[in-house]
Amino acid sequence: MQNNTPIPERCDVVVIGGGPAGSSVAALLAKQGIDVVLLERALHPRPQVGESLIPHVWKYADLTGVTPLIEQEGFVAKAGGITVWNDKIHRIAFAEFGFSRPALHVERDRFDEILLQHAASQGAQVFQQVSAREADLSGDWPAVSYQDRRGGESQAGNIRCRFVIDASGAAGVLAGQFQSKRLVDSSMRFLSLWGHFQNSRYVAADGRSHAADQVSLVKPVTFVTSFEDGWIWHIAMRKVTSVGLVINTDKARGMDKAGRERFYLDTLKTAPYIGRLLENADYLPDSFSQRPDYSYYSTRLCGENFYCIGDAAAFVDPIYSHGVLNAFYNASIVALAVAESLKAPAYRARHAQICENRIRQFYGFSRSLALGEFGGDGVEAELVRRFMRQVPPVELELMLAASFMSERSRNFHRMAVDAGLALHLGRAKAHAMDALAI
Ligand SMILES: Cc1cc2nc3c(=O)[nH]c(=O)nc-3n(C[C@H](O)[C@H](O)[C@H](O)COP(=O)(O)OP(=O)(O)OC[C@H]3O[C@@H](n4cnc5c(N)ncnc54)[C@H](O)[C@@H]3O)c2cc1C
Repeated sequence: MQNNTPIPERCDVVVIGGGPAGSSVAALLAKQGIDVVLLERALHPRPQVGESLIPHVWKYADLTGVTPLIEQEGFVAKAGGITVWNDKIHRIAFAEFGFSRPALHVERDRFDEILLQHAASQGAQVFQQVSAREADLSGDWPAVSYQDRRGGESQAGNIRCRFVIDASGAAGVLAGQFQSKRLVDSSMRFLSLWGHFQNSRYVAADGRSHAADQVSLVKPVTFVTSFEDGWIWHIAMRKVTSVGLVINTDKARGMDKAGRERFYLDTLKTAPYIGRLLENADYLPDSFSQRPDYSYYSTRLCGENFYCIGDAAAFVDPIYSHGVLNAFYNASIVALAVAESLKAPAYRARHAQICENRIRQFYGFSRSLALGEFGGDGVEAELVRRFMRQVPPVELELMLAASFMSERSRNFHRMAVDAGLALHLGRAKAHAMDALAI
């Protein structure tokens, strides 16, 4: 990755952001010989939340070619999920769906670093500690202005390109510029507070708790419990466990950061099952982080010379671990659109339109699964029904099974029936459990 090299003045594609979306799209384009420059504000490894990955991610890792690097890293393989939602316990086991490769619990700083290094190895020119400021999209050669902070100095610059791909995550560089970011309606507006613990016991698919040092021997599940004000995740990784609260934004209004951290720790102590898992665990105070008001979408995603992907396009409550999958999916379709548009510029608008629909479809699918209420709020039900029909049956049945694990997905079930998928819905129930031995 380029530390002292000057940033070029021109290239085919500028990618803003080196998270899963940006690194994947950059790798896919660069491996076709397209001249890609990726600007990343941070210096990897940088902290990131979102450690639970479902097995669907592998096909995108295969596409970019990063699979062997992820496999070599030895991330924790997980067996499935257990939720305790309003006192009802459900379990899904990925093995029952016929996936041959595991779901993972990954330290995102390391996972994202691997993806970024892979993009560079495919030929993308990666510049870290360089923030994109805005993009002038007028004319044949859009210009991205940036602030280069490498080596402790700060220098402004510009780079021209044919296409700008905004993968800047929640920062949403283009959405900010377009003023196109919309928060979802207030009842579904969430805040997340999370941190890391060492030596937490964890839950395995047998519904029992195990000591932290067993995690590579007895696969964990992603463990979720609902509580009065929201829900909690517990994700066991190699050395630490990520534990986070998701609550309605209103619940923490008026609290400063210290107040939120107190609220976070107090809630975990008294939360069913979680309190016991954390009884002898050590909290790592520096790991405390928060993300306010995070359910949003942008009303403008793709155009003749720009694309917004991953969290820069939209984000919903992460209860079904769709974030990285969404980033990978967006990257794969946009890489195809941009590569084709470079070959045949006359089709640029058409490719952009197709991608806009696809990105909305996936977002709508995730949103209806995670948020329950599903109106005209940035998504179209018909797009989602069409998407459901295209999802490979094994993946659809896993998502349908997962949807029985919270009580938010009635609308998702209705849409599956309307899409002619009642048979899959009938087959896809999660297993109810009577009790957990925690
Ligand atoms: C509380 C919470 C829990 C989550 N849990 C899960 C989970 O369990 N599983 C899951 O799959 N997903 C989860 N997610 C979602 C997941 O983390 C995101 O969807 C995923 O990181 C999106 O990838 P991305 O590449 O779009 O954005 P990011 O990972 O955010 O990457 C964006 C990158 O852009 C860079 N950047 C920002 N601004 C600029 C700029 N101006 N110039 C240059 N670079 C810039 C940033 O430094 C960053 O590296 C969770 C999210 C939250 C908030």
